[in-house]
Amino acid sequence: MKAIIVGGGIAGLTVALELEKHGYDIVIIEKDFLGKGATWAAGGMLAPQAEGLDGLFLDLCLKAREYYKDYVKEIEKKSGIDVGYSECGIIVPAFSEDEAIILNKRINFYKSQNLKASWLSREDIVNMGYAISDKVIGAAYYSDDAQVDNRLLTNALINLVRKSEKIKILEKTEVIAIIEKNNLFKSVKLKNGEEIEADICVLSAGAWSRTIFDIPVIPVKGEMISIKDKSLKNIFYSSKAYIIPRKNYDLTLIGATEEKVAFKEGNTVFGIYKLLTGLLDTFPHFNKRFFDMWYSFRPDTPDHFPIIGKSHIKNLYFATGYHRNGILLAPYIAKILSDLIHKEEENIYLKAYDIFRFLKHIPSF
Ligand SMILES: Cc1cc2nc3c(=O)[nH]c(=O)nc-3n(C[C@H](O)[C@H](O)[C@H](O)COP(=O)(O)OP(=O)(O)OC[C@H]3O[C@@H](n4cnc5c(N)ncnc54)[C@H](O)[C@@H]3O)c2cc1C
Repeated sequence: MKAIIVGGGIAGLTVALELEKHGYDIVIIEKDFLGKGATWAAGGMLAPQAEGLDGLFLDLCLKAREYYKDYVKEIEKKSGIDVGYSECGIIVPAFSEDEAIILNKRINFYKSQNLKASWLSREDIVNMGYAISDKVIGAAYYSDDAQVDNRLLTNALINLVRKSEKIKILEKTEVIAIIEKNNLFKSVKLKNGEEIEADICVLSAGAWSRTIFDIPVIPVKGEMISIKDKSLKNIFYSSKAYIIPRKNYDLTLIGATEEKVAFKEGNTVFGIYKLLTGLLDTFPHFNKRFFDMWYSFRPDTPDHFPIIGKSHIKNLYFATGYHRNGILLAPYIAKILSDLIHKEEENIYLKAYDIFRFLKHIPSF
């Protein structure tokens, strides 16, 4: 069986590696270079609780967080690359009484779900050694939220797909259309006019998915910066910014803006100002050396949930719309999606987040 994967970000790379295990011959088609889209730009937080999730999406994200533990061991063993996974815990500071009330409600909710969650007073945070701002009145603490270095993980995944004899990679190759015949996937059409046929196709083109196929995915731009520093142990994730210490480098990442500006390129003065303000509102003395800045586009959807699983065209599958949590979700979704493709194994999440919820009415943006 031959599979085409359209898009070589974390969604496409993880699905390719799962299908390889099932014996598929795979072609990954990437318009740029593998792993240089949103996947490269992310913060790498594995943070269902700091994100304040609930309901079925919380369940999915918790499964994905748990799945990471063995997944990184497998990837590190096969690739020989340390992917900077760390169960560092996430502190969510409150800057007002209103925020503290919301966070305490969340703590109680997560406790009722048997998840670890606690309240830290301002004094607790200071006693942890943090020169936190006077504006912070306390914080929620989620000790099971974690992080992975998404760039190292991406390098490891790329290393594995490049090594595989079953996976062919076409970079700088753009797909412009997906072609079906009698409601069955037939081929993809490339910008250079060529057509490539296969038995199945997975659309994993992230924020650009809608440029190839009529699917309600919209880009949400995010800017980030990094600072030369290694003083923090935990991630700090507030309404102003998130601050992520990297385990493998002397770097702290600050993220991220959220803007619906289509594919407008470049970092902006307002974006960087917002991130620096968020950092200094949390740690007023953080006058360290500025290192880098970057941006990319999250693949959002009208209800902000992913679009995964079967489509209305037989043998065409979706692995897109991962929005703010794609680094977290990708490995677990790749596993359940490849089980669907290979074994017809249905799954509650694939059903809940399939395209059919939008088909009656594809919203316009
Ligand atoms: C600033 C920022 C911070 C984030 N932080 C986090 C975080 O802390 N934790 C977390 O879990 N998630 C985070 N995310 C979200 C996460 O990065 C994304 O959800 C995830 O990377 C999406 O992966 P993807 O493979 O779907 O998309 P991408 O990584 O964007 O990959 C899509 C690929 O498809 C290719 N492509 C597009 N069109 C075509 C075409 N026509 N033909 C061929 N190839 C094509 C692109 O070039 C690209 O390489 C963040 C995102 C941003 C932008």
